[in-house]
Amino acid sequence: MPTITCYEQTENHLTNSAIWSTISALAEHVPDELIIITANNNYRESLIHLLINRDKLNYFPTIQSFDDWINQLLNIEPYSYFSCYHELLNLIESDFHHDHLLFLTQDEMIKTLLNFFLFLLLHDYDFDEQRHLFPDFLTKVEDDCRTLFKRFKNQTKTKLIFYNVMDKCRLIQERKTVLEQTLQNKTVVFLGFTHLTKTQRYLLQRLIPLTTQTAFYTSKESYVKDWVRQEFNDILEIPETNQRLNKSITRYSFDTLQQECRWVLKDCLNRLANNNDHTIQLVIPSDRHYNRTINELADEFNISLFSTKKQPFQQTSLFESLKSIINFIQYPDTVSALETLFSSPLISRFKHGHDLIDIDLELIIQVFRKESVVAGFYSMKQAFDFTLASLEKKISSDDDDDYSLRYKQRLEEQWLIIETLYTYTIGFKEQLVLKKWIDYFLHLIDLFDINNQLNFLADNGNVINQVAFDQFIQQLPKFITSVETGLKPYLNTICNRLILFLEQQTIDTEPTHTHSIYIHSLQEAVYFPASYSYVLGFHDSCWPYAIPENIFLKQINIPSFIDVYDDDKDYQYLLFSQLLTEECCLTSSIEYLGKQTEPSRFEFKLPFEINLTTAPSYSHQVSFTESLQRPIQYLDHKTINYDTISSKYSHLKSDSFNSLSNNVILADIKDKIRRKPFSATRLDTYQRCPSQYYFRYVLELEPAQELSEGISAAQWGVLVHEMMYLFNKNGQYNNKNNLKLAAEEAFSKVPYMNFYWEQKKELLFGTTTEPGLIDAIFETIQQQPYRLHPGQFEMDFNWTLPNSTYQFKGKIDALFFSDLNEPILIDYKTSRQLSSAVDFEEYRALQLPIYGLSIYKQTQRIPIGSLLFQINSQKHTDIKVIACTKNAKKDTFELKRKRPYIYDETYFNALEHHLATLIKLLESGFISTDYHPVLAKTYTKRSTICRVCPYSLHCHFKERFNAIY
Ligand code: SF4
Repeated sequence: MPTITCYEQTENHLTNSAIWSTISALAEHVPDELIIITANNNYRESLIHLLINRDKLNYFPTIQSFDDWINQLLNIEPYSYFSCYHELLNLIESDFHHDHLLFLTQDEMIKTLLNFFLFLLLHDYDFDEQRHLFPDFLTKVEDDCRTLFKRFKNQTKTKLIFYNVMDKCRLIQERKTVLEQTLQNKTVVFLGFTHLTKTQRYLLQRLIPLTTQTAFYTSKESYVKDWVRQEFNDILEIPETNQRLNKSITRYSFDTLQQECRWVLKDCLNRLANNNDHTIQLVIPSDRHYNRTINELADEFNISLFSTKKQPFQQTSLFESLKSIINFIQYPDTVSALETLFSSPLISRFKHGHDLIDIDLELIIQVFRKESVVAGFYSMKQAFDFTLASLEKKISSDDDDDYSLRYKQRLEEQWLIIETLYTYTIGFKEQLVLKKWIDYFLHLIDLFDINNQLNFLADNGNVINQVAFDQFIQQLPKFITSVETGLKPYLNTICNRLILFLEQQTIDTEPTHTHSIYIHSLQEAVYFPASYSYVLGFHDSCWPYAIPENIFLKQINIPSFIDVYDDDKDYQYLLFSQLLTEECCLTSSIEYLGKQTEPSRFEFKLPFEINLTTAPSYSHQVSFTESLQRPIQYLDHKTINYDTISSKYSHLKSDSFNSLSNNVILADIKDKIRRKPFSATRLDTYQRCPSQYYFRYVLELEPAQELSEGISAAQWGVLVHEMMYLFNKNGQYNNKNNLKLAAEEAFSKVPYMNFYWEQKKELLFGTTTEPGLIDAIFETIQQQPYRLHPGQFEMDFNWTLPNSTYQFKGKIDALFFSDLNEPILIDYKTSRQLSSAVDFEEYRALQLPIYGLSIYKQTQRIPIGSLLFQINSQKHTDIKVIACTKNAKKDTFELKRKRPYIYDETYFNALEHHLATLIKLLESGFISTDYHPVLAKTYTKRSTICRVCPYSLHCHFKERFNAIY
């Protein structure tokens, strides 16, 4: 029987120095070779750090995670998650009840199912008829999954060499003699285990008797210790020797998250100014508010933050580009796939022969939109042919038309790219061997000149994409072997597997010790050898006790399949133990996500004192942005450029501040509020994005011009409004000829007709073969079950909110009356997307509500209906009742299944309150892309708004290009 030792921790946590003492003691007193087995690979990396940074060890012990150790001992390959995924997908896609289980092939579904199956297999559990694990309404799905599991289990047995715990135990038995020799004269030390899984217990029961010495480093009352005691009678228990120092840790509290992060960075800078050799780590909650704020401030202070975390391949621009190429190979016929491809980060040019042609996506999309092409190679070709022919005609009638000549040339180039690309993608179907398919794919990457783009990026300091590319090339043989040799490369199978394979990859970057400030999550911070640590967000919203789904801690990554029970709480203890031996401080902010938080109650249970102290002020150390934001009287005459101030700080980053503190800008905002009445659009802009408001109405920046060479949406909107105004004004609402006359009159005001206006004219009047918009508008009017009697049009309003000086001014498109002479409000829209009843209810779109309120104020009657008249295209012309009164829904509009928002006077009273709150917030200087409770209803729509924002090039909001398409 081996000697079994338990090195006890006196308290519930591990410390660097205690581990070090144990390893040193073992190394000195144990004649055998040390093998240190850790709970998972994170511990392994940390231990290597620890050993490298100490210099008194006679030799370097072997350090392995439990899983790696077992695999090596038993000489088995760990199974691959990717292969299992591949097998399961094959099963579902090929011969299993294809139709009704098709939903299982959805990404999230299949991953969940696979994790469930693997869990069953790993723990040798059965999934037979006795067990009903799914809810009753899923009995049918459960039956299917059961059959699927049986097939998957058979498959894994024969194909994947999948070892469950019993297989491993059997192998130990078979290789007992060899293992005994291998483990002879070795001391195996188990470190970092707080619990043992069933699998680990089974294996240890069989392996420990084969070792010469086994040691556990664990706390006195731990589960591990109890188990060892029960299993093996004779245990040597060695209490921890080193004395823990009484230590107290300083905590600094701040009012806001901004102030907290700002102070931390300034303190870091100060610390580094005194000692450049410091390695500092910032431990932050895994939460986007902290992440974003700290990264933005690091930008502001020109600080580079580093991380020891491996970067997922998925987070690179290269992945985005490869994904859109693969998507295009799968769906080459759709314009959206082409649009996604050409707007990918690394795709901007295309090789044709010896030429390198720049891709002009705007131009391409313009042609397709004009001809309403959404799919089909031949429709795309027709669209280009048609546009080119029209240009040809124009050029032949006017030889000096340089512009058209250039335009035609550009169009021809773009078509050349598209045509070559389509011809190339057809070739994918002809590649009958996977390796050839991959070669063909690599050639396509080369056609986009991606390699040169990566070199260029690397020369400019962005090497990550180049490293990712090299790794991608190196991993391709692995991909080919893992996707079944001899498999006929079915397009979808290969494309899906390739994306999944890439999603699994992480990028190995060279470790470097020259960086100073690291940013880590709790798990990454544990054992990181920092000379000073800041633990941010130290309050209940971020730590594990108060809320179960706390945001500080990440779950263990399931695909990595660390077969170990690891409690998140332990990481917290580990970190604190670590902090006991190192310099550190804790920081927190009182306001977090707009909520008040109490200091964490578990601070009283910690093994050290926490002193709440006022943070030293760094008023002398201000960033450029801070100096500009200071009240005007504090500005330093020598350092501040007054031209900059007078241009209203247009270079201030919109996302780096919450509330403006600069008196000049604040005064300007207040002045504008006082002098300039609000329009619905203006206030809508503010509530959707205060930063956009700031650019448009405070800085008065010119919005970026639409890149279209045709008629802008705004010009078209003006013409349609004019047409409807003339039509309504002339009465005889039911006369189609009147509508035509109105359209002609509106067109007569267009200063000059060009190619694009001709197109619009065709759209409106139709052609000899196709009906036009006028027909659609008239048909829509005729189809309504109610009659609208013309009232007032382009009707002015001008009023002030009660108990304030906030003034509102604008024009209502059209006011009609019902048969009973009740007001009905209509707003004309030329856009494809309309606001909804929910937008109306939650004040997310203010136009219709404000118009309704205006009518209420002028007539003391609320409109019985608030309608949108959409005039976009033949297909998208309709009148929609967005909101109405209860009686009107049934009696006037006869809406049965449609659900407009039902309102009464209280809605408009509450609207007044909402408007006043919004303006007060603006008056307070809240200009930010951050969350604010008053703007909660519109905050979630930010990414959609960014998509069409003309200020995206001025703005620094990090997520502005992540728009949802
Ligand atoms: S890009 Fe987005 S965040 Fe920036 S100003 Fe425009 S809407 Fe606001």
